[in-house]
Amino acid sequence: MKQPLDMLIIGGGINGTGIALDAAGRGLSVALCEMHDLASATSSASSKLIHGGLRYLEQFEFRLVREALAERETLLQAAPHIIWPLRFRLPHQPHLRPAWMIRLGLWLYDHLARRDRLPGSHMLPLNGAGPLQPHLGRIFEYSDAWVDDARLVVLCAMAAQERGAHIWPRTRCTQARRKNGLWHIELIRENGSLSTVTARVLVNAAGPWVSHLFEEVLPSPPPARLRLVKGSHIVVPRLHDGGEAYILQNQDGRIIFVLPYEQDYSLIGTTDIDYTGDPGCVAPSYEEITYLCDVVNTHFTRQIEPNEVIHRFSGVRPLMADSRGQAQQASRDYKLLLSTDSHQTAPLLSVFGGKITTFRALAEDALNQLTAFLPPNDGPWTTHLVLPGGDFEDHASLAGSLKQEYPWLPHRLVQRYVRSYGTLCRQFLNRHAGITDLGEHFGAGLYAAEVDYLMDQEWAHTTDDVLWRRTKLGLHLTPEQQRQLDAYMQQALQHNG
Ligand SMILES: Cc1cc2nc3c(=O)[nH]c(=O)nc-3n(C[C@H](O)[C@H](O)[C@H](O)COP(=O)(O)OP(=O)(O)OC[C@H]3O[C@@H](n4cnc5c(N)ncnc54)[C@H](O)[C@@H]3O)c2cc1C
Repeated sequence: MKQPLDMLIIGGGINGTGIALDAAGRGLSVALCEMHDLASATSSASSKLIHGGLRYLEQFEFRLVREALAERETLLQAAPHIIWPLRFRLPHQPHLRPAWMIRLGLWLYDHLARRDRLPGSHMLPLNGAGPLQPHLGRIFEYSDAWVDDARLVVLCAMAAQERGAHIWPRTRCTQARRKNGLWHIELIRENGSLSTVTARVLVNAAGPWVSHLFEEVLPSPPPARLRLVKGSHIVVPRLHDGGEAYILQNQDGRIIFVLPYEQDYSLIGTTDIDYTGDPGCVAPSYEEITYLCDVVNTHFTRQIEPNEVIHRFSGVRPLMADSRGQAQQASRDYKLLLSTDSHQTAPLLSVFGGKITTFRALAEDALNQLTAFLPPNDGPWTTHLVLPGGDFEDHASLAGSLKQEYPWLPHRLVQRYVRSYGTLCRQFLNRHAGITDLGEHFGAGLYAAEVDYLMDQEWAHTTDDVLWRRTKLGLHLTPEQQRQLDAYMQQALQHNG
């Protein structure tokens, strides 16, 4: 590897991998280090929505909503396999928000940015049927989009690597110092090996650790105050049959999403609680779980209990601290803070805040701010980005082609491959002639061929990487099946040295 690199990025979440992709596509030499697995922190613990954020209109965040709505269109085109349209139903609660306010909000939501692919909002006719309690009379409907957040991160990393970026998961940055106009950065790999890398530009995309990095790694005082806000989700057996999502208004002013999840489940979230602990140890509390169940129980006819929760997770939003009181009101907008040494060299760009939805715009903004410090390059290019596996027309036509090419593939597997891998699944289907050619079956349609592909091409090392981030098959595999998968992966790692 030629040094100095043009850029080293700390953090393999959506913002770090997005910046790596944009930089590599401009022809710059880039490396990214991530201390655990890609997307192991906030970027796999989101509500998994590519959305403008309807409720941010209440906080007059028009810039953020407009940018996010415009990004929604761009991303639907960039990754049709893992990002798809989702209709939302909003039951009206007149004592919480008057109908005129919701109508105005939805009108703005429909018109603030270009909308080519998604239908606009409207009010549903009253018919009393459906999963909601009969007292919830009027229901509004509008569009947003779903994203497999962790796969989005991995696909950005793969796309960056295709363009020459070095992607180093399980590699922690322990120290970074400016010397003679360059950054000297110390890295330690999970196996204990140490290395030093030099780079012209350093990017701190450490998410909830962005301030910690200033305190421990750089070290210098953080240029802004971070507000960590914890959000938790629960997964329960599917609450309703339709493909639509629900947005529920709670008495405390918060809103809760009920989202169709992995065919058989509903994903419910999120809470918003100020957090001061270690972002690596965040987990849902019993109070958060009962809170989420209670909100669902005041809206749906089917009632749920905490003991029906089959999976739960929490994440920590790294938000810019402002004067707003409640955690739910803190701005979700991002800020990029740039500093240099006294000679105006060795810049450090730090990412504060941001959403999955705005990662591409954030990355473009970051690269534009750094232009003066970088060699001449090709300039912005990601507006028409297509991420790996996203080169197909629509889900139905890709499923149809796969069924013709692989008539022996079960329908459920075709559906999962289309929604997780798009055209990339051909890499592990690889002209096989029958299901037994896919090798050992670990359960729930997970075969060795897919695991091998994930280890070889997508940096998967552990069962959690495979079962919770590259796929969501952790919802289905028994502990014994997970142990078999673990044994298989350990053996493969030993075999590959
Ligand atoms: C509950 C919740 C729901 C959300 N829902 C949505 C949503 O529906 N839609 C949306 O658009 N956004 C949503 N968001 C926001 C979005 O998830 C975050 O803004 C985004 O994931 C932040 O990404 P990031 O790359 O900045 O941080 P992270 O994903 O946390 O990545 C930072 C990475 O840096 C690594 N790191 C830290 N220190 C070091 C070091 N020293 N060396 C190497 N690596 C290091 C960490 O391991 C981590 O992986 C939600 C957030 C939360 C918490």
